Amino acid sequence: MPEGDAIRRLASTITELFAGGTVVASSPQGRFAHSAALIDGCRLQCVRVHGKHMFIGFVTEGEGQGQGQCEGEGEPILERWMHIHLGLYGWWRFNGDETVVDEGYGVAHRVPPVPAGEWNGHSETRWGCGFGEAAAGTWEPPEPVGQVRFRMYNTHAVADLIGPNRCELITDAEREAVEARLGPDPLEVGARDDEEAADCFARTAHAKKRAIGEIIMDQSIIAGVGNIYRADSLFLAGISPHRKGKNVSVKRLKELWVLICDLMNRGLAAGRLETMDPKEAPNPPLVGDEEASRWYVYHRTGRPCVRCGTPIREALMQNRRLFWCPSCQR
Ligand SMILES: [Zn+2]
Repeated sequence: MPEGDAIRRLASTITELFAGGTVVASSPQGRFAHSAALIDGCRLQCVRVHGKHMFIGFVTEGEGQGQGQCEGEGEPILERWMHIHLGLYGWWRFNGDETVVDEGYGVAHRVPPVPAGEWNGHSETRWGCGFGEAAAGTWEPPEPVGQVRFRMYNTHAVADLIGPNRCELITDAEREAVEARLGPDPLEVGARDDEEAADCFARTAHAKKRAIGEIIMDQSIIAGVGNIYRADSLFLAGISPHRKGKNVSVKRLKELWVLICDLMNRGLAAGRLETMDPKEAPNPPLVGDEEASRWYVYHRTGRPCVRCGTPIREALMQNRRLFWCPSCQR
């Protein structure tokens, strides 16, 4: 399942490709047809992310002003939000004309078109998804492939939403209600030094009798953490995932908050979910254990811990795979 950093990368891409302009919207698969018709012709005003939830704000032309902003004084209250949760299998797929470059990992951005006559025959597309083949102005979105729940496009780019767990049109009050049910988000600007957010997380987690490995996957306590960040943040904090929340001190939980903020922000900046500090990565890389260059314990069942050599353990916790080092984590 994409974790919070991946959702933010997708949100940045959608903002860059569509914010401030009108979109043509549809539901090729049909299951979102009624709502897509209400979005069709609207201007995409902004994209918000809270944890793994994405909210795309639309206004009808003429309403509102500015682009890509949804907060701050003088900004209109958006009454039309598209609420998306990708779940385990959902994803966005982008395509576009020569001005749209795909960087992979859900990142695409726009570059100035190559002037006529200077085209060297090579697309700037690094990951080869067929972007950049049509000159700006002549491009048309390709036929949707697979079960596309929602499609929006403008004159340069198209975004297809495939297999989301949740996709609905909601009001501003409904968006607020969804966000109110979510815990603090480590990727929110300033979250690392936000005493209130750290305290909220630490005190809520400390009040629980459940295992800390369950607690940090509970989106109502901390929003955006998934399986990889769970495994490796608990490893770095030295806390066993089976330890009950009430048996971890508030001070250690606050340190865990900072650690999760740092890890997730690093993943967001790097554009991929890798938690390993390059200084600790096995050198040379371990053959047959490529994960050891990317993660500490995630997906490394039975292999030696990079710090102590103890074989990494695996178990199921709430039907998700859990990884930990029984020596480093107590
Ligand atoms: Zn270890």
